[in-house]
Amino acid sequence: MYKLPAQGLDHDQLFQNLEDYRQNDLKWRGGRAFAYVYDAGKAAEEVGKRAYMMYLSENGLDPTAFPSLLRLENELAAIALGHLNAPADTGGATFTSGGTESIMLAVKSAREHARATRPQITAPELVLPTTAHAAFHKAARYLGLKVVLVEVDPTTFKPTMADFEAAFTDNTILAVGSAPSYAHGVIDPITPMAAFAASRGALFHVDACVGGWLLPFFRELGAEVPPFDFSVPGVTSMSMDWHKYAFAPKGASVVLYRDRALRQHQIFACSDWTGYTIINNAVQSSKTGGPMAAAWAVLHHFGHEGYLEAARRVLETTRQMAEGIEAIADLELLGKPEFCMLAFGSKVVNVFHIADEMAARGWHVQPQLAYKDHPQNIHLSIHPGNVHLVEPFLAALAESVEAARALPSSPMAAMLKDQVAAMDLSDMSPEMVQGAMAMLGVDGAALPERMAGINEVLNVLPPALADRMLTIFFNQLFTPAQG
Ligand SMILES: *Cc1c(COP(=O)(O)O)cnc(C)c1O
Repeated sequence: MYKLPAQGLDHDQLFQNLEDYRQNDLKWRGGRAFAYVYDAGKAAEEVGKRAYMMYLSENGLDPTAFPSLLRLENELAAIALGHLNAPADTGGATFTSGGTESIMLAVKSAREHARATRPQITAPELVLPTTAHAAFHKAARYLGLKVVLVEVDPTTFKPTMADFEAAFTDNTILAVGSAPSYAHGVIDPITPMAAFAASRGALFHVDACVGGWLLPFFRELGAEVPPFDFSVPGVTSMSMDWHKYAFAPKGASVVLYRDRALRQHQIFACSDWTGYTIINNAVQSSKTGGPMAAAWAVLHHFGHEGYLEAARRVLETTRQMAEGIEAIADLELLGKPEFCMLAFGSKVVNVFHIADEMAARGWHVQPQLAYKDHPQNIHLSIHPGNVHLVEPFLAALAESVEAARALPSSPMAAMLKDQVAAMDLSDMSPEMVQGAMAMLGVDGAALPERMAGINEVLNVLPPALADRMLTIFFNQLFTPAQG
């Protein structure tokens, strides 16, 4: 196994190694990646990094020892709550490490709140449109809630009220709407959903992780943005990521509550051990002050005008991209994008081949698998880093579509499609799964260069089996380094 060096390395060597390790990473600088990094340019990056380094060693464990961090957090909370129209007197917000943590905490608050106020509920349920982010499934699994899924309309990718209402039972403690949902960039009908949840005594969370920051700027620019925040009666909590479209370095999100009384259920205090008294707002205990200082710095770098300008550019680019994609034969947008993200599919051309062909041309686009009646597709998140590349992107896409037409579909996917329905998943051993993955060219340590074959197979597997395969793959991928 890989070992600690006997003597410390000289610094040139050590940093050279770290640099070399990055050689195969996603090349996001230059704007040819449409996921993972929300790039607002060099100046924003520098400001974020400098502030991050300034506060890297401060510990957010104890706000009384580091009042600077308390101050930063309360200023960020005020900005977030004001931005999303929370009542000034009762609203409360907590800085977190990301959307997943914000969502985890909102679900935990809902669970504790239900235990306190609706003790007759012993098997609490979470109502989720199928377009809600997977982080809610994760929260439900961690926290022991039952997920009740609501199908969405296959043309709008939003739930209908009839389906949403039908998902409620006497055990529903929390329901979720997205503004927008990640996959298709569309906004759920928040107003009637929140009203219905309230009428059933349930809490309602708006997941504005990706959209919460820029949507109000889009509205200011004249775009049609339906009410989605605390201005809507019945919305009890929200999540918003600074590390997406506020362009802060990663590790920065916020969970918000209309009423701080609900936030009490999120806080963990423990005096029942021999060490220092623990009080944690969020999941982490010891934590760097870096992400918070960086988020604060990036927000103050842009100011309102800076974000309005960034919003104007991404909105304009999204419209151009949407038009350009629809003009390419056999491609179609899925839903009507209401944010600077979109998804497109094809009834004729294999989108997984299109993604591989784009990668071969140096562009990173994100394939999304089919789900029930929703076709497999390609997702794009437009950010200031790629606004200048509309023309070359569309040219590469048109070429990739033509190249993809000539490529064969996976025979294994075709074979499996007929067989999976009859398969008994319970007796698939890890060895069988590994054998199947080896046939796909996944050797346990790395993925093949072209992903279409794997995506096509995952695309026909039932979610439970795909998840099983992916779990075994990761358990294998993360093995101790050799030599
Ligand atoms: C990104 C995202 C999340 C999860 O956030 P992470 O920061 O990746 O943990 C949740 N909801 C939506 C809509 C998102 O786009």
